[in-house]
Amino acid sequence: MSTPPLLPHVERMTGYVPGEQPRDPARIIKLNTNENPYPPSAKVAEAIGAALGDGRLRLYPDPTALRFREAVARRHGVSPEMVLAGNGSDDCLTILTRAFVGPGDVLAYPTPSYVLYRTLAEIQGARAVEVLFRPDWTIDPDDLAASGARLAFLANPNSPSGTAIPPGAVAELARRIDCPLVVDEAYGDFAGEDCIRLVSELENVVVTRTLSKGLSLAGLRIGYLIARPGLIDGLLKVKDSYNCDMLSLLGGSAALDDEDYTRSVRDRILATRARLAEAARSLGYTVPESHANFVWCEGGPPAEEIYESLKGRDILVRLMRYPGRPAGLRITVGTDEQIDRLLDAMREIVGGR
Ligand code: PMP
Repeated sequence: MSTPPLLPHVERMTGYVPGEQPRDPARIIKLNTNENPYPPSAKVAEAIGAALGDGRLRLYPDPTALRFREAVARRHGVSPEMVLAGNGSDDCLTILTRAFVGPGDVLAYPTPSYVLYRTLAEIQGARAVEVLFRPDWTIDPDDLAASGARLAFLANPNSPSGTAIPPGAVAELARRIDCPLVVDEAYGDFAGEDCIRLVSELENVVVTRTLSKGLSLAGLRIGYLIARPGLIDGLLKVKDSYNCDMLSLLGGSAALDDEDYTRSVRDRILATRARLAEAARSLGYTVPESHANFVWCEGGPPAEEIYESLKGRDILVRLMRYPGRPAGLRITVGTDEQIDRLLDAMREIVGGR
């Protein structure tokens, strides 16, 4: 029998391809998927170790993730009723799309941005409407308002640019549209400001967050969204019952509570980020001011060539191509030592051209 046909709209999809995860990451300087170069809080292993030791794993996890939601609430000064836990923030984005976007509906988002948004629209048989960022990485509210969206995503800070729109301008966007505006703050831990207070001020603002970046837990798969309690009730209907496993919830809660550790890691990354951005500019790249744990390099020495040469030296960065603009390099902020090696290699490659 031949392969059974998929639904026509699934048949047409390309599907999202995440950044490369090499088989032997220990050998590679891995600066391509914005992981944190520092280990998670030691409290994470303690919490997970205790659960592994006492036999709790034979039980299902708490489907309401109450303890975890309480840790999120403490961190952000919101109530636990405003929090929904997800299997990574991608899961939160999926839940939102499932709940708000049906066949033929419009899912709008700025571009260039997180490539997954298009795939989420396509899975629903919906229409992805991409609103072009202005050259300074701001958004014209008229463009977003004209999209006719049932749901809008805004990565803020944005990937790949690392740029951020201030909360006042985000509020203006939210006021101009008739649908939920999801502010995807996957990189919010590296930014000066966040939009969480807008959730209380405006009915249509939702914020998503991850523990993958600022809290060094990409491997655990845990994130959350913050919304009005009435909206959370609706979203609960479409999430998988046990979307977060017990170890992720325990480890995630421990990480959220270890604020001093999170702050110290963040401070180190911000210092390295400033150095990396400056060095990339001196190599000829245009690097917008980053509010995330990566920098975006455009317009300098050809991105494809630098990407390949770096890869040949076991240094992996992300080559990104968006329609209508030259390819660029998105480089994750690693440890100081990793960034020194990257910069030495880049200087050598550029000097030898
Ligand atoms: N949003 C953006 C803008 C991202 O870059 C990522 C990371 N790929 C995510 C969300 C998802 O992160 P996670 O699922 O690991 O929480």
